Amino acid sequence: MTNQEKLEKIKEKIDIDNQLSTALTMINWDLETEAPEKSVNQISKVISFLSGEKYDNYMNEEFKNLIYSINVDELSDIDKKIIEIIKEDYFEKIEKIPKEDYQKYSELVVFSSQTWAKAKQSNNFDMFKNYLSEVIEYNKKFVKYRGWEGHPYNTLLGDYEPNLTVEYCDKFFDKLKSDILPIIDNVVSKRKNNKELQEAKKRLISHKYDLNKQKELSNHLMDILKFDTKAGVLKESEHPFTNGTSKNNVRITTHYYENDFRSAMYSTIHEIGHALYEQHIDDKINETPAGGGVSMGIHESQSRIYENMFGRSRSFIKYLYNKIDDLFGISKLNIDKEMLYELVNDVDKSFIRVEADELTYSIHILIRYELEKEIFSDLNSVTDVDELAKKWADLYEKYLGIRPETYSEGILQDVHWSSGLFGYFPSYALGTANAAQIYEALNKKTNIEEDLENGDFSKIDAFLSDKIQKYGKLKTPDELIQISTGEKFNPDYYVNYLKNKFVK
Ligand code: ZN
Repeated sequence: MTNQEKLEKIKEKIDIDNQLSTALTMINWDLETEAPEKSVNQISKVISFLSGEKYDNYMNEEFKNLIYSINVDELSDIDKKIIEIIKEDYFEKIEKIPKEDYQKYSELVVFSSQTWAKAKQSNNFDMFKNYLSEVIEYNKKFVKYRGWEGHPYNTLLGDYEPNLTVEYCDKFFDKLKSDILPIIDNVVSKRKNNKELQEAKKRLISHKYDLNKQKELSNHLMDILKFDTKAGVLKESEHPFTNGTSKNNVRITTHYYENDFRSAMYSTIHEIGHALYEQHIDDKINETPAGGGVSMGIHESQSRIYENMFGRSRSFIKYLYNKIDDLFGISKLNIDKEMLYELVNDVDKSFIRVEADELTYSIHILIRYELEKEIFSDLNSVTDVDELAKKWADLYEKYLGIRPETYSEGILQDVHWSSGLFGYFPSYALGTANAAQIYEALNKKTNIEEDLENGDFSKIDAFLSDKIQKYGKLKTPDELIQISTGEKFNPDYYVNYLKNKFVK
């Protein structure tokens, strides 16, 4: 077989993989948004079946031979990258997991995440804990199948951020512990003593915010942030997320609360940031294994730069104030632009990560990182999940001085563990640190504050698209930081950003 013939055969298989992945993503999207409760049994069987087909499509000697025998030196850069990705994602990862385990696990996480949503709503950990235990033990087993270097948790960290290690994370989080943790108390107590702010906050959260008007705000945000509604859609789910199958099919969700418009507003902005990344992937890699975000750390940099650096800036709030006032009448609540800025940047020691302010956010991540690191430090003993719930509360007490009294405010709050996403959390903090660094570089190209005050995202959109988003997986995260900022990753930008914003 010539090299060209091999490439064509490989591309046929990639095409099948694409169809199966698209079907699986759409079914999962439906499960998270609209599927009726009683449909879960039937749908989970379909997921299990399609996961098996997807596994078989790549995991066979014939395909493996093609991938390892093709002469990559004769291929284009893109095709070379695609072969590399398939080797890494499948033959160095999934192939090591027996098909039976892979399929059973795919089915397990469907039930596990469905049960998690119910358990969280009813604060019932007993309902969920056997699932949690099973998902954890499966992940340990998978790490054993796959092998590891250094700490076993490194294998899982690497799934979301290439080459990320415990050693690296320890250093990063130690920096946050020494630079951010000590300033939180002071900022929080200053704000607690600010009567004007506390009164305004009470007025804000005792008001009701019509859900249709909140949806109108989401639509407005999609419009000004340049989300392409012909290539994407927004719906609702328990836990907001972004899902997609190509640049032309990007699905995002948000969650509306009647007593506070800020929650959905920032979830929507965050997910739009993710969506823009996917929508701006270069046409020539769209619907290929190289089309899609390169890592969660880079993905989170795009969502969090929109959510925090742009969305929570004074300039953007100045711009958005009139729209918010038109919809919800907040001027009648005696909240002006400056007060709204303070209210969207409220700092407090709170239990819920997704609602946390920028200053305490990374501490929520630190806590999850420490727990996961411990879970996967010993692959041979079974994790006691009751003990884990207690450790969760202990760490909140240790770092933030507060102790969750309900499971919903504690271990049940995040969707990640229910669907087996261990190793994912650190990328939120790393992503935010990336975002702070990218913001500084972008600010040298355009006057961001002025653009935001005019609600003009065109230069921002062009910069992020050109320096990061269009590349998909063609560049590594390190290369993207170098291309967009002209230097290596440097967490000082993040620490300085937080200090400048919150320590006055
Ligand atoms: Zn995100």
